[in-house]
Amino acid sequence: MAELVAAELRRSITVAMRRLSASSLMPASQGNLSARDRDTGNVVITPHAYPYEDMTPDDLVVLGPDGEQIGGRLDPSYDALLHVGVYKARPEVFAVLHTEPPYVNAFGALGRDILPVTTTGLKSANGTTPIMPFRHRRDEAFTTEMLEVMGDSHGVVWQNHGLLVVADTVENAAERTIGIEFNAQVMHLALRAGEPQTLERVGADMIVA
Ligand SMILES: [Zn+2]
Repeated sequence: MAELVAAELRRSITVAMRRLSASSLMPASQGNLSARDRDTGNVVITPHAYPYEDMTPDDLVVLGPDGEQIGGRLDPSYDALLHVGVYKARPEVFAVLHTEPPYVNAFGALGRDILPVTTTGLKSANGTTPIMPFRHRRDEAFTTEMLEVMGDSHGVVWQNHGLLVVADTVENAAERTIGIEFNAQVMHLALRAGEPQTLERVGADMIVA
């Protein structure tokens, strides 16, 4: 019988979450990461409230394309249906990552969009990372609104909560998350000294790397 999801995909999720957790991009067992298998269309996602340092590929949960659980002994992440909703709406997306990085969250709390003040930030977010107003429920309407706010950016901030990033691979989702947090940290430092020039104002054609 064919695998529900590729073993390599499972492994990449546990590797990425251990790395992000060790880098303080989310506290304790917060955050979640999923990937869509390109062959089967199934979604593999981190379990609910489970420590990343102990997580093995067997601890991950597998969902069918409509979100029904078809593999794994643990409960899926609380945001599982949100991830499935993103995959349904965005056929080009194969990885969805939610983290709670401190500098990103600081701008989220202020309701202030994160502007590309570094080349890394521009590349990681594909421009500005917008802020979505706080909502109590993360239901279907939340997913629809979130995708609207995100537009063609690679990321969106849930105000007073955290960051959601989409990508074509798990590795790129992790890189983009790290890049958006780095850019937010630089923006924070720059704002203490004045008004930073953003790459949008300079023009993206000046980017060399
Ligand atoms: Zn969260």
